[in-house]
Amino acid sequence: GSTIGIIGGGQLGRMLASSAARLGFRTLVLDPDADCPAAQVANELIRGAYDDAAALRQLADRSDVVTYEFENVPVGPLRALQAAKPIHPPIEALEVAQDRVVEKAFLNGIGIATAPWRAVDDPQELDHALLDLRGDCILKTRRLGYDGKGQATIADGGPHDDVFESLGSVPAILEKKVPFEREISVISARGQDGSFVAFDPAENVHRMGILSRSTVPAKVPQEIAERAVETARAIMDRLGYVGVIGVEFFVGTDGTLLVNEIAPRVHNSGHWTEAACTISQFEQHIRAVAGHTLGPANRHSDCVMENLIGHDVERAEALLTEPDTLVTLYGKREARPGRKMGHVTRLSPRKAI
Ligand code: ATP
Ligand code: MG
Ligand code: MG
Repeated sequence: GSTIGIIGGGQLGRMLASSAARLGFRTLVLDPDADCPAAQVANELIRGAYDDAAALRQLADRSDVVTYEFENVPVGPLRALQAAKPIHPPIEALEVAQDRVVEKAFLNGIGIATAPWRAVDDPQELDHALLDLRGDCILKTRRLGYDGKGQATIADGGPHDDVFESLGSVPAILEKKVPFEREISVISARGQDGSFVAFDPAENVHRMGILSRSTVPAKVPQEIAERAVETARAIMDRLGYVGVIGVEFFVGTDGTLLVNEIAPRVHNSGHWTEAACTISQFEQHIRAVAGHTLGPANRHSDCVMENLIGHDVERAEALLTEPDTLVTLYGKREARPGRKMGHVTRLSPRKAI
């Protein structure tokens, strides 16, 4: 069989490596940490930083195709590999997803609505942007934010003198705070032949900025679910995308649908697919990057996926005895607060909606 190179050895890399193994592929993972979650599952680990040109070159030389499991892979060093081996999803998707200003401009440019936003590079621009957008707002760093890190809420007319500095005085974006009714996400896959499949939208609840649970089906009208899937398809088509993407949405009370952000990789809110679908998001991604046919994305069960964060993982033992429950643990030794240690998906018979 051929070899899939994966940049990043976290839990997503680990689950990708498992799916790859089942389809007969070898996996080679690049990560600085010899003890990373994927190390236990991949065939081989190359130790190195994600921007280490020599390590990346080794990964590309020894793989048939290169993919990645997180969106902050440095684009420059990656581009140097492009001539050597195919890289999926495309680097352009990374460029879009790595910078919240580029991301929103891209989405708005293809007619996809987002929260109103302004680029903010200094405290003065923040003052102007607050006057412009009005209402409660959220200031976010343009780059490198995840799990709600690098964000600060500014109440309407509230104090904000030190907010820009508190984020580290780096380029930022001010977003209007959207009064959403729910958050949903679409996990979809696009193959090398342009074929497209989407899992049913999940309804997501966050706690302290971190995804806490995903429920499927989402309680949204069919029309909203279809519009969300078409939005994901439009994004993928425009990017010439190959692989799995996660698209996060806000659903307003009046049926408005706004994209929050896109993640050019398998997504935490798609972990339930491993329990409730025959073909998981991880297998769809492996199939896509390897040039295989995608599988159907239908779901045999309803489900709720819950993240086990920090000490939540101590409940794993008890969860193992529950019926119709799939527990996944990432093999991380230390249960630090806020650290994703595993997840659990509880299945129930599929109800007609
Ligand atoms: P992820 O871990 O999903 O990558 P992130 O750090 O990139 O998270 P966002 O997705 O931008 O952060 O925001 C985290 C959460 O904060 C959102 O899921 C949503 O609940 C809330 N949020 C973010 N932006 C807005 C907004 N403009 N209006 C209302 N709520 C928001
Ligand atoms: Mg994000
Ligand atoms: Mg998010």
